[in-house]
Amino acid sequence: MSDDLEATGLSVLGEARAAEIRRLIRDVPGFPHPPIVFRDITPLLADAAAFADVVEAFALSCREYQIDLVAGIEARGFLFGAPLALRLGVGFVPLRKKGKLPPPVRRATYDLEYGSDTLEVRDGTFTPGMRVLLIDDVLATGGTAVAGVELIEAADAKVVATTFLLELTGLPGRSRLANHHINTLLRTVTIS
Ligand code: AMP
Repeated sequence: MSDDLEATGLSVLGEARAAEIRRLIRDVPGFPHPPIVFRDITPLLADAAAFADVVEAFALSCREYQIDLVAGIEARGFLFGAPLALRLGVGFVPLRKKGKLPPPVRRATYDLEYGSDTLEVRDGTFTPGMRVLLIDDVLATGGTAVAGVELIEAADAKVVATTFLLELTGLPGRSRLANHHINTLLRTVTIS
């Protein structure tokens, strides 16, 4: 269980419910390697009521944006992005890791701790002026989300907001997305 999380957007469900949902995120220190504390959301996904409540909290957090499409980042961005798109009555776009989509694709490459990775989207998915919500499970250094933003904006579509289940504060994610709205449902706090 994650003890160091506070509800941001999730508090729309009420503090008691937000606390129950927070307890369904499992901390795994040292995975995939130290010093990372992996935030395992699989207990949350396995709880139907919690999963539905989280999707509802995402929907409430973006109700002001008039979204045309939800774009989710592989892989865990798909798990929240697809049900959110259905809930909002809009389409869903998978932003995939390199080599998974058939051509033609657009690509954006981003740095990892060791090396780099690439996100791809089917070319022609986004059109100028389209209003897109970008979603992923975790915002950490922001590299992945910035690559997602690049793919959307390269087609002159607009990223109306970015949204995450969980923001790891103390990392540069928020500042790297500074020109965009960032909605989070939970964020880390330092425990003293
Ligand atoms: P970043 O590009 O550094 O913001 O990392 C975000 C991506 O890495 C997201 O797609 C997350 O699924 C994953 N990620 C980063 N840190 C964690 C973590 N501590 N626990 C779970 N997933 C993480």
